[in-house]
Amino acid sequence: MNRLTTHHAAKKTQLRYPCRVCSQECSYEEESIQCDGCQCWLHQHCIRMMLTQYVEYSQKPSLQFFCLRCDCDSDGHYNFRASLERIACLALDVSHMRDQAETENRLLALYGITLPPLSAPYARDVVVDRPSLSLLQRHSQWLLKQYVPAAVGADGNCLFRAMSLALYGHDGLYDHLRLLTTTEVLLQPSLYDSTSAEYYAPYTADDRLMLYTYDNFVKETVKDGAYSDMLTVLALSSVCIRLKCTGRRGCASFGTIVEPGKAHMEKKHSTYQGS
Ligand SMILES: [Zn+2]
Ligand SMILES: [Zn+2]
Repeated sequence: MNRLTTHHAAKKTQLRYPCRVCSQECSYEEESIQCDGCQCWLHQHCIRMMLTQYVEYSQKPSLQFFCLRCDCDSDGHYNFRASLERIACLALDVSHMRDQAETENRLLALYGITLPPLSAPYARDVVVDRPSLSLLQRHSQWLLKQYVPAAVGADGNCLFRAMSLALYGHDGLYDHLRLLTTTEVLLQPSLYDSTSAEYYAPYTADDRLMLYTYDNFVKETVKDGAYSDMLTVLALSSVCIRLKCTGRRGCASFGTIVEPGKAHMEKKHSTYQGS
């Protein structure tokens, strides 16, 4: 070890709060934030956090912050399942789950984690689901003139995998879609609980459907591999309408919350047109 290296190492150990990005000290004079995962410190400018975002973190203690190292898996990909697990582990109190959903939405926006531009699969690339094909041939042949029944992974995430396949040509974005659906349900509670005249009421009148209570619905939606019901379809449809509105122009930020009024109208449209 040469002298320079020794000196550098000694200097480094003197730092009390070294920034994980630039390795310089996070002093009291500089806007800095601590990761709630690994407890490291980072300069606001080193993570390209806008000052308005920084102020929001400062003013809202319920918001958690996670550095990219804590938010990514070992391959460097954003870890959506970890986000879902952070919400799921608060299942004893839905209000805490809601706070965490806000945290996860802000992290997606901060790191610019977006879905890719929409890219529907070609029929020739789809693996045909044989049981569905034979059912449709017997009962709804007209559907086969327009659609191909596609096979997706059968791990309890099939609704999200199917939507990922339809929108992006492969089913691998299911965990991102599940996270967006979970935050939609948690951040728009009035639409998905039993008092909702728009969403819930038309389905309670149908005695062939069994709907979860809001709390149980949220606790199921957040679980990787948990099966979906009608409310999940409605929540995912809201997410997808937002994607379709913005996706054709390229990579929009899907973590961003749309204006409440606009989302409301879009949801209404999807419910009554689609059902
Ligand atoms: Zn720094
Ligand atoms: Zn961290």
